[in-house]
Amino acid sequence: MRSNSIDTANLTGIFADGRWIAADGDDLLEVVNPATERVIGYAPMASDRDVDVAVQAATRALPAWSAAGPTARAFVLSRLAIEVEARAEDFGRIVTRENGSPVQETTSTAMNAARILAYYASLAGSLDCEDLRPSGVAGLVSRVARRPVGVAGLITPWNFPLSILAMKLGPALLAGCTVVAKPAPETPLHLAVLAEALVAAEVPPGVVNLVAGGVSTGQAIVEHPGVAKIAFTGSTEAGRQIAVACARQLKPVTLELGGKSAALVLDDVDADVLRANLMRASLRNNGQTCYAATRLLLPRARYAELVDAVADVVQGAVVGDPMREETQVGPLVSDRQRQRVEDYVALGRSEGATVATGGSRPQHLPVGYYVEPTLFTDSNPGMRIAREEIFGPVLVAMPYADEDEGIAMVNDSPFGLAGMVYGDDLDRAERVACRFEAGTVGINSLVLNPVAPFGGWKESGLGVELGPEAVTPYLRYQSVTGNLR
Ligand code: NAD
Repeated sequence: MRSNSIDTANLTGIFADGRWIAADGDDLLEVVNPATERVIGYAPMASDRDVDVAVQAATRALPAWSAAGPTARAFVLSRLAIEVEARAEDFGRIVTRENGSPVQETTSTAMNAARILAYYASLAGSLDCEDLRPSGVAGLVSRVARRPVGVAGLITPWNFPLSILAMKLGPALLAGCTVVAKPAPETPLHLAVLAEALVAAEVPPGVVNLVAGGVSTGQAIVEHPGVAKIAFTGSTEAGRQIAVACARQLKPVTLELGGKSAALVLDDVDADVLRANLMRASLRNNGQTCYAATRLLLPRARYAELVDAVADVVQGAVVGDPMREETQVGPLVSDRQRQRVEDYVALGRSEGATVATGGSRPQHLPVGYYVEPTLFTDSNPGMRIAREEIFGPVLVAMPYADEDEGIAMVNDSPFGLAGMVYGDDLDRAERVACRFEAGTVGINSLVLNPVAPFGGWKESGLGVELGPEAVTPYLRYQSVTGNLR
């Protein structure tokens, strides 16, 4: 089972120093295709020693990569973007087999990952300078330099494995950091394609190192003294544990965590706009999207009409084999995740909410971790289904009386990741959006703009990714003051 070779069905090592090397540990991750419930491959669970090998490789590569300067690093990043884009279909097929996301979603998010890398390459000019600042004391000036923080540990979830990694990799590499990256245990196999892209783009050995594994591997990265910064995307619970570990070491950390975003539908909404955008904004990726607007706040005066519009879309979603182009909703990522979603559906019923549509396993799909897209009505903001992150295709509709009450309901949440406003009067919709306690708000659609910062408020995170703002956490500053020339 152990060798230095690699194929797309099995990972047999860790990618460090620009090549696959045999893993130290014997434990294997079993990767199950959620659409077939069959094992499709294995990956070694990186041990502490494997993580150390990867960190050592990153540490050796750091001085040259950091000294290369932003323009040279941007050139490598743009080549990596090209190589990732060239493999978008390979990434799409593998990720779909790993996590059940529809193949049209996984292929387009691979293209999106390439665009994010290319965007960070385009920012090289903004880093390419040291500046001299007067001190106010005769003759003394300060030279202010930006230096990479060091080796960065990048830990990611299974729902959008490649684009979430790109959101970290782009700014980290541009800043001059080298990295050790670990995907979720559900989705390690696409690392084979990523390593191919890294080699084809001639990313210098040791600059990007890849390990597979679960919580213990993630903890080994977080705790490693050679790792200077952590960037994490995942659940709020895991994020809190990582924040505590980083606080103990005084290690900087960026956290992109869970959410329970709301869509506030204003009373002047065009119901067709709501229909057209609901799938993407609220049920994207089988509902397993951190910023999905799963709380639907509908004006009481138009409640019945808008519930019908929503129910039409939810009921009409094409559920099935995620490898088919026309599929909109595939299986959930794992049996455990399906159980979690089914438990929430049962909880909603027991709390007194009504299942307006869905709520069961689709009868035509006896194999695979499928759950019908589900809409709850007769819900209220105190219910757990309206407060907790379900992370599946389950929407909760609630009426509100007026704009102020609607906004109060939006903000009555421990989370603050994202949100949406639907409305015809765009000025009013924007005024309302600005009252959301959330990092990202969409009007009539919910898309992430790579050039704008994305980051959760409240229990949804710490710091931001995307935009130029995402580079700063990978930098540290040094000022040298004297009679400088
Ligand atoms: P998870 O928190 O279980 O795991 C995420 C990653 O962290 C995995 O690689 C896991 O192995 C690792 N990990 C878990 N505990 C760890 C620990 N104590 N120390 C180090 N590493 C650890 O999350 P998941 O189930 O993979 O993903 C779903 C969650 O991610 C949802 O809550 C979702 O909202 C969130 N998410 C957030 C964003 C965002 O940008 N805010 C994006 C996608 C997903």
